[in-house]
Amino acid sequence: MNSQSECDNVSSSSGNGSANNSLSRTEEPPLWNYVIKLEKQGVAGGTWKFKCKLYNERRQGSYSRVKAHLLGLKGHGITLCKKETTTEQLEMQRLEDEFEKKKSESRLREVPLACESEIESDLKKRMSCFSPIIIVRLYDNLREG
Ligand SMILES: [Zn+2]
Repeated sequence: MNSQSECDNVSSSSGNGSANNSLSRTEEPPLWNYVIKLEKQGVAGGTWKFKCKLYNERRQGSYSRVKAHLLGLKGHGITLCKKETTTEQLEMQRLEDEFEKKKSESRLREVPLACESEIESDLKKRMSCFSPIIIVRLYDNLREG
């Protein structure tokens, strides 16, 4: 009973790479510093019960909710911070921007430049350059079309 396992190989992520990976991983998103992690929610992912340090509000969710609460982003299913000053919000926004920039820079370095020039080659090769979400979308499009 092991006939269709070819696809499974792809999902095994490289969890324990070499130890001298200086950036990434160790770096925590900056806005976690403004809340207190109380309790981990669920098994996978970064969902936490957390307490906002500014107003002592208890909330729960992943980092995107922490961000929404502190940066005043609407539509994330979480209330915005009441106690925060504009100065604090700007500072948080700046930290978050810096963090995102650093993250995307380190990501760029990992992607081989060959991807762009080999667009003519087969679809599989191209898709390996994209994120999983885009790949899923591509598959959906192929199926529907
Ligand atoms: Zn708050």
